[in-house]
Amino acid sequence: MNAPAEFARVVCPHDYPDTCAMRVTVKDGRAVKVTGDPDHPPTQGVLCTKVSRYAEQTHYRNRLLTPMRRVGAKGDGRFEAVSWDEALTFAAERLNKIAARAPEAILPYSYAGTMGLVQGESIATRFFNVLGASRLDRTICAAAGAADLR
Ligand code: SF4
Repeated sequence: MNAPAEFARVVCPHDYPDTCAMRVTVKDGRAVKVTGDPDHPPTQGVLCTKVSRYAEQTHYRNRLLTPMRRVGAKGDGRFEAVSWDEALTFAAERLNKIAARAPEAILPYSYAGTMGLVQGESIATRFFNVLGASRLDRTICAAAGAADLR
């Protein structure tokens, strides 16, 4: 017999100032539905389209669950699954080769993941600095948007 559904009260992990409050329906240890918390005045039970489908995105049947390496020419659309160790080794070898030759050729494009302190504000900057990569104002889209407001 399946366990009855439970509800978890959480907040959205993205960095919006309103910090939408959410209710997550959990069934058999799995998040099956995400809705806005009606008790939270800014949220009033409604989430944006991006986050209101989190459960569906997380459990989507075609979601990538392992790194993929291109095996054909660019644009052929042919990939093979590889382990995380293989993927990280491959990336480290490529980055080290570029860093030894012309580190400024590395464009340090990254952002904040799910907005944690480790992902968002520290490790990526240190990592790219050690490699000697070019400098970039973290994002391309946010800087372009700010420039357009001036
Ligand atoms: S649910 Fe959507 S609108 Fe609300 S904080 Fe998260 S990303 Fe922003």
